[in-house]
Amino acid sequence: MGFQEARRERGAYQVQVKARTQIGPHVVRVTAQGESLGELPQRGFDHWFRLFLPADGEDAALEHVPDRFTTGPYLKFVASGAAKRLTVRNYTIRHHRPADGEIDIDFAVHSGGVASQWAQNARSGDRFALLDQGCGFDLPDDAGSLLLAGDETAQSAILGILRDLPAEAGGLAVIEVPSQEDAQSEVTASDVELRHVFRKAGEAPGAAALEQVRAWQFDRPAATSAYLAGERNLVAQARRHLADAGVPKPNITFMSYWHSP
Ligand SMILES: Cc1cc2nc3c(=O)[nH]c(=O)nc-3n(C[C@H](O)[C@H](O)[C@H](O)COP(=O)(O)OP(=O)(O)OC[C@H]3O[C@@H](n4cnc5c(N)ncnc54)[C@H](O)[C@@H]3O)c2cc1C
Repeated sequence: MGFQEARRERGAYQVQVKARTQIGPHVVRVTAQGESLGELPQRGFDHWFRLFLPADGEDAALEHVPDRFTTGPYLKFVASGAAKRLTVRNYTIRHHRPADGEIDIDFAVHSGGVASQWAQNARSGDRFALLDQGCGFDLPDDAGSLLLAGDETAQSAILGILRDLPAEAGGLAVIEVPSQEDAQSEVTASDVELRHVFRKAGEAPGAAALEQVRAWQFDRPAATSAYLAGERNLVAQARRHLADAGVPKPNITFMSYWHSP
């Protein structure tokens, strides 16, 4: 498996904020609404997208969001000047309601981030745009021994995967969050255990999740598949541990979402 750059089936989705909800002390949910969202394919799992946020008074720049994030369209986007007026970040769909033309996006709140700040201040009617990037997770043929691990930024991805796993899937899903109130549950048909761990004061982000990954007892390392997402060190060290423990590298899907300074 590998973290794939997914296909585009339609260009940018122009949307607006319907609601902002504080889900936990460190998580803000923005509900986006737009007629075009009725056409967004419901891919499930860790379906993610590029998010284009205009600076104050720069809504007109949204018309220049590229159809694809490949070199040619991206260079055109930069040349239009819109790249200077829009912030581009990556986020995951937490819930998708095609019939209502709505998605929920859960933002991990932290200091100094443009997207994090935007989410905290989002008001009904604020405009933004999305570009569909598809899924990173590929359901393995043998899903009986899965290890999913990440931090709060990967909570939507891991819960989405859990929600969509078949009954024969088994294993462990570990999500590290800053506090107990940030933890969310999910219904799953699978036998995968969902385990939240909580960051202690002063502890590096990802350390608690990494501890769980290292403690996991493999029955069948060669038949295990893993999905790792979140802070860079967590992802890198968990991947190294799993590879050393005998999990074949092609079975490890990983993506560094952000880097702790
Ligand atoms: C495929 C994919 C899907 C993602 N899905 C989600 C999602 O659903 N929800 C979500 O919250 N994030 C998600 N992320 C992570 C998110 O894109 C990054 O955290 C992003 O940097 C946040 O942008 P920002 O503008 O708030 O901060 P930036 O302007 O990018 O960064 C500002 C500073 O904050 C630091 N920083 C960034 N993120 C965090 C954080 N979470 N905690 C502490 N410090 C941080 C940076 O290192 C930098 O020093 C995803 C990333 C990828 C690649």
